Amino acid sequence: MTSRPILWDRIAGAARPVPEGTVLLGRYGIPEGKRRYAINRVAVAAGSYFAAGTGTWSLRDGVERWRGDFGADSVPPSIVLESVAVIAAKVRSLRQRGAPLSDWQEVPPMVNGVSQRLHPQRLEERLRAELRYLRAVCGDPHARLRTEHVLVPVSQARRNTWRTVAYLAAHSETWEARRLHGVEPAKLLTPLQSADHDLYENRVVATLLDRLWRYVLVRSAEIDAIDSMVRQGQSLLDQAEMRPDWRQKKRLYAFIAELIEQDDLAGRIANRRIELTALRGALAPLLTSRLRTRVGGPYSGPPRLRPTNLFDNHVSYRHCRRLWDDEVASRQGTDDQNDPVEALAGWCRDFAHYSLTLALRAVEQLGLVATTTDRPEIGKPGPQFTYRAHQVRLDWNRDDTFSLLLDGRPILRMVPLPHALTRQAELIDHHLHSLRPAAGYRTAVLYPGDPFERDKLPLVQRLAVHSSSGTSIRPAMAPVSPADLGSIGRVARTIRGALDERIMLDYPAHVPCRVPGASSLARRFGWLDWRDGRLLVICPPASYELTQLGAALDELRTHADAARQQGDNKEDLRRLHESLLTAVDQIGKLTICPVCGHRPESPSTEFVPRADDTYICRCTNSSCNSVYELRRCSAKSCKERYPVLTVPSSAGQLGGHGDLLDQRFSQDLLAVPCWQTARSYICRLCGACPEATGTACDRCTRDKPGT
Ligand SMILES: [Zn+2]
Ligand SMILES: [Zn+2]
Ligand SMILES: [Zn+2]
Repeated sequence: MTSRPILWDRIAGAARPVPEGTVLLGRYGIPEGKRRYAINRVAVAAGSYFAAGTGTWSLRDGVERWRGDFGADSVPPSIVLESVAVIAAKVRSLRQRGAPLSDWQEVPPMVNGVSQRLHPQRLEERLRAELRYLRAVCGDPHARLRTEHVLVPVSQARRNTWRTVAYLAAHSETWEARRLHGVEPAKLLTPLQSADHDLYENRVVATLLDRLWRYVLVRSAEIDAIDSMVRQGQSLLDQAEMRPDWRQKKRLYAFIAELIEQDDLAGRIANRRIELTALRGALAPLLTSRLRTRVGGPYSGPPRLRPTNLFDNHVSYRHCRRLWDDEVASRQGTDDQNDPVEALAGWCRDFAHYSLTLALRAVEQLGLVATTTDRPEIGKPGPQFTYRAHQVRLDWNRDDTFSLLLDGRPILRMVPLPHALTRQAELIDHHLHSLRPAAGYRTAVLYPGDPFERDKLPLVQRLAVHSSSGTSIRPAMAPVSPADLGSIGRVARTIRGALDERIMLDYPAHVPCRVPGASSLARRFGWLDWRDGRLLVICPPASYELTQLGAALDELRTHADAARQQGDNKEDLRRLHESLLTAVDQIGKLTICPVCGHRPESPSTEFVPRADDTYICRCTNSSCNSVYELRRCSAKSCKERYPVLTVPSSAGQLGGHGDLLDQRFSQDLLAVPCWQTARSYICRLCGACPEATGTACDRCTRDKPGT
């Protein structure tokens, strides 16, 4: 068995051997250490992304060499690449300027230059103008007459040359018989005139045709992406306006409002579509034309064409050359073919920057309030926020991943993975199988993906590639794209899942206790329980009960007794009191609404503890009325608790695949409702639906989400 190269696995957060075959682009990085690696013969520094431009890679460490690939189409369409590059450039300039965090949160994470993209492009106009010349050349290409010598039966031979005689003399197999006076031939080598289309000029035109075809396809995809973005924007705004915190968060949706308020957007989209469809219709037949099928291969010379008789003097060819120059000019500055390794590594870095803008927008959309002015900086503690009276921090790690910390403990690792996972449908299972979340905290993979790619997938796969919560065996998967405005809500739901789960599962609050007779406190106060030598705070006490607590603790006071070698327990009681107050504070925070941030006047009345260490709480903000609770999984093999959130505007909505959840709940969802009974919720860890035991939920017994 050959050894495998050791690289930094950004998903596992550890150095790991790279598996054989197709690997995920940008999953690995060059680890710190002694080994000197070269990718496709280019030396790479520690900390670089493991990326190679041609799709295949070879890796050397001076001694050994390994080969593999990233599969075809591992990067998203050009509109996504371009937009992500523009967003990343904005983030870089903010970093350089030392701009405040609020500026970072303002960067619109969507397709750039919508207005300009909806204008007719110069190349399209030129193509329309020159189309008839292109058509003329393709239909009747110039050819050079070439003489070929072919072997034909004697009856068909029309002309003989000196070659005919020489060939006949040397090849007895072409003889019919040998006679007295000489040889009687069966076949003769005869000169034949044939038309040769494989000329410099024709190769240029064929290559031009291919490029124009690709251009029109890319433009059509671009217009489709903008169209779906505009439609999505309108429904997102409608949904956001229904939310209780719309007034405060309106600013966050300004970029969507700006997008859809452009003049006559629908008309411009429709016009471009009509024009591009016409161009496609005109170019398609040329792809099988005489010229296109008769040239030997593509033109691969310099963009500047050399003057030829045909290009200079033939009207149609002259026009084709002009079109060639226009096409070359339209790509000026966008070609990065010189250094494919660097171009792809650049895309990987850009995608991480873009993911950061999504994460920053998402935390603001969730209502996290920044408490420091710290900006994200690689390898340093990042900006801090408060959420439900807890401290949250977002760190940018050295391997271009992001860590979310709750009260100083890491709870979520967000890994931007620049591989267009759902573009290669046949490799999805292979890749998903290789993903394992790290132990101890949640892992979320953010990868470039568009909804139309998921539309084509079978349901089980679709559930696996878009799950904002993940399961015990798979990381959360969040497809994101600047052409998909649902991306922010999706990332926000991923972050909410990690934050609220950790906050809400920290229940009940345990108070270790060495004071004899402390169990009497649990008998006296309904908000306390006694279990295994510990006091448990199971709900927030009313303020008068807190006053009574002091008196109750005083009653447990024992005085120093020299005979029994027993000291005063004053210090123990003081510590117990302090611990109880801390626990009360912790339980009190559970009553803060995860949706609107409202803290109830009297937490004790809204918080209802239930058997089996679960509870339910209702927001008292009259414009919110959200319900947040813990439930316990009924599956015998699981029995774990999971948090559930119900927001009135989406209550009654059923569960479904990730894109449906985006539309129905956006960021305001923890456990997913059953697909047939909205009041039941599916356990995140094991995927069991409470309805599955009865006959109600057929779906949940058949296709467990995320498995
Ligand atoms: Zn609320
Ligand atoms: Zn169900
Ligand atoms: Zn379960």
